[in-house]
Amino acid sequence: MCGIVAYIGNKEAYPIIIEGLRRLEYRGYDSAGVSILNGDIHTYKKKGKVKDLEDFVEGKNKSGTLGIGHTRWATHGRPNDKNAHPHNSGNSDLTLVHNGIIENYASLKEALAELGHTFTSDTDTEILVHLIEEYQKRDDLSLEKAVQKALKKAVGAYAIVVFDKKSPNKIVGARKSSPLVLGLGKDEFFLASDATPIIKFTNKVIYLNDEEIVTVNRDGSYEVVTLDDEVQNHEVKEIDLKIEELEKGGYDHFMLKEIHQQPTTIFESMRGRINAEEGWILVGGMQDHMKRMVDADRIIIAACGTSWHAGLIGEYLFEDLARVPVEVEYASELRYRNPVIRERDVVLALSQSGETADTLAALEMARNKGALLYGIVNNVGSSIARFTDCGSYIHAGPEIGVASTKAFTSQLVVLTLMALNLAKEKGTISEGYFRKLLYAMEDIPKKVEQILTLDEQIKYIATEIKDAPNALYLGRGYNFPIALEGALKLKEISYIHAEGYPAAEMKHGPIALIDESMPVIVMATNVSAYEKIVSNIQEVKARKGMVIAIVTEGDTEIKKIADYTIEIPETEEPLSPLLSVIPLQMLSYHIAVLRNCNVDQPRNLAKSVTVE
Ligand code: GLU
Repeated sequence: MCGIVAYIGNKEAYPIIIEGLRRLEYRGYDSAGVSILNGDIHTYKKKGKVKDLEDFVEGKNKSGTLGIGHTRWATHGRPNDKNAHPHNSGNSDLTLVHNGIIENYASLKEALAELGHTFTSDTDTEILVHLIEEYQKRDDLSLEKAVQKALKKAVGAYAIVVFDKKSPNKIVGARKSSPLVLGLGKDEFFLASDATPIIKFTNKVIYLNDEEIVTVNRDGSYEVVTLDDEVQNHEVKEIDLKIEELEKGGYDHFMLKEIHQQPTTIFESMRGRINAEEGWILVGGMQDHMKRMVDADRIIIAACGTSWHAGLIGEYLFEDLARVPVEVEYASELRYRNPVIRERDVVLALSQSGETADTLAALEMARNKGALLYGIVNNVGSSIARFTDCGSYIHAGPEIGVASTKAFTSQLVVLTLMALNLAKEKGTISEGYFRKLLYAMEDIPKKVEQILTLDEQIKYIATEIKDAPNALYLGRGYNFPIALEGALKLKEISYIHAEGYPAAEMKHGPIALIDESMPVIVMATNVSAYEKIVSNIQEVKARKGMVIAIVTEGDTEIKKIADYTIEIPETEEPLSPLLSVIPLQMLSYHIAVLRNCNVDQPRNLAKSVTVE
């Protein structure tokens, strides 16, 4: 959350920063702002989108070769102009952007106020720039030393970038629990929340670690030190990211592009990890730790949001196929209770961005208890990827739409492959069934492609239910988490209140809500519970609910009772979530578009949740 971009070099900074902010806008869009150095600091900030900032800055002086920018997801203080970043010091020499939360800001603010500092915003961030100013003044410190001292006082999470007009040839950045990447170009440097604003200029990056401070200088030199002043020598990494992957590629929205990419991204997540013909599965990250995984007493899956739903399906998969007990935890809960985690447990963290603050903190806690830590993330080089003992990338490519789609299906692919790999290793699966699932896995991409051709039908159903105030999603077994995910997708982007329930639980409460204005979306592809689902549908119909059923191709029975049926190809039951989620993603997308909602940037949300 919150996107940061900074530039120092020979080029004009403003266009680079604005383009970078547009790429980072998925991280927050409450307000945007820039500070450009040109003798003086020119700071412009505006509530709203990066576009609003651009309109505001039009015609104003924004020339300069050093600058910082920010797109905000507000935590402290309303999203308005004055709370927008950058924040400047009282003497107007310093300007700073921040991603994270300074938890002890109130006491620091009070102390600074006593020293005569006055504040112009309601943010926690503003105290940082005043604190740095205070240390510069009081102790006559250089910018980097004052930053170091100030950050030692700060409790919480931060990625910051700051510059001082008195030191016009350098920018200082630092991070703790929020991401910051250094890009090394030719005679120029970039600092950003992720590599997307940098990739157009250079593929050479350094991922900063927690409690590190970097100073980049116009003469091409840079230095990374810790808060305790130890010099750090980082390996420069080359990232493999193409600019086209960051564009909409002809689609109206990133979300639509990402939904339609799924035949490819699902294939990419499997590539090199499975061969049905030869009968093997090999998940690289597991191999070095296989004994520990086979001997594990338990797998604990920690995640948030959509990743948590993927984790729930992981529970079904690991228990069903590999016969190992699994617990799925909201990372935010896991980290703050006193959980029983032992050395023979494996903690599996799921996060698209690899930066989710709660998931990272849960891992830190689990490490102290001696568990093996396994990360399943999309973003290469992200904090979770670096923190865990081992892991697997999902290889879904950049996901920019705030509502996760392709990352979810790729997480499912990796979880399925892992469960199968472990099952094979433990001997909990018959060779015949193993092979059958392998072939079925390899068939998934083309089946997803087939579902994507149902677009017109799904769009029509969307027109029929777009004005409903509520919706209910029901599923059983492997498809129960898909009901949760379907409801979340609808809530996120169309603002229709929706709930997901295990179909049989409907009778214990939600059935009271059903009437003719309540669409009920039922996942009805499970072979194992088919008759029971048919009964659930009858119960809804008996109360005049409108049923939209996701059924297996050729189904005749449900067609007779449901108002609408969406037929999807058949697959093995453990793999069915990979297919049944696709029409739900498409349905949410179309409903949101019909309701004129901003699909890629839904209100109040942001991707990559780097605050608690
Ligand atoms: N706490 C800062 C603010 O509210 C930054 C928020 C964030 O990083 O999401 O402005």
